[in-house]
Amino acid sequence: MIKIKTPEDIEEFKRAGSVSKAALRLAGSLIRPGVSTREIDAAVESFIRLHGGVPGFKGLYGFPASVCASINEEIVHGIPSPMTFLNDGDILTIDTGATVDGWVGDNAWTFYVGNVSDEVKGLCEVTLDCLKAGIEQAVPGNHLGDIGYAVQHLAEKNGYGVVREYVGHGVGREMHEDPNVPNYGRKGRGVKLQVGMTIAIEPMITMGTYKNHTLANGWTVVTNDGMPSAHYENSIAITKDGPVILTQDELGPWCNMQGGE
Ligand code: MG
Repeated sequence: MIKIKTPEDIEEFKRAGSVSKAALRLAGSLIRPGVSTREIDAAVESFIRLHGGVPGFKGLYGFPASVCASINEEIVHGIPSPMTFLNDGDILTIDTGATVDGWVGDNAWTFYVGNVSDEVKGLCEVTLDCLKAGIEQAVPGNHLGDIGYAVQHLAEKNGYGVVREYVGHGVGREMHEDPNVPNYGRKGRGVKLQVGMTIAIEPMITMGTYKNHTLANGWTVVTNDGMPSAHYENSIAITKDGPVILTQDELGPWCNMQGGE
């Protein structure tokens, strides 16, 4: 069942979104060769708790950490580890969220570690553009298929793959609510979007095949061909004035997080 939020709900929700985005920005500031993904996870957890929140991922379905930290060919659900160190040229996706005042923010960003090849940067840039294209379609009267089509069309036009098994979702007082928000689809199909829906849009785009499998740890999803994957996510509200990004802070939703700001 899709839970419709009031304008007051959406205002409350922004606090969780802001803490989630700030946590993501903090993660980005720590990323450099030699850092372990566990260090980033620990810092994010402390940050969220200091700001009155609870890490949204920790314990969710049994996930053991506050961030998913997915490197290179890892698509989603990488588990932070004190033994996993970042290397120059890697890309690292941090997916994190915070529950604040009963609302759950959810967002993700693929960061560059040191010097990343132009080819891999291209994948990341197109994936971020896919997120923007999906958000642009999140207006009342459109359908979920319009979001999925926009993401898929842009990704495939650039020769990239669109992961099918993992999708965006409704988000609100729970991390995962109805409906599913696929990154593929057909214009005009699927659930009609209406004012008060809050959803997480999160394209997962691969340089090679979108086919994937889960590692023996039961969590980490990797591309079958070992080629890299990128992932960007925002929680948004559908309002009469168009999409409102809930996971943003005072620096705005699209400020460049790659430059170590
Ligand atoms: Mg999500």
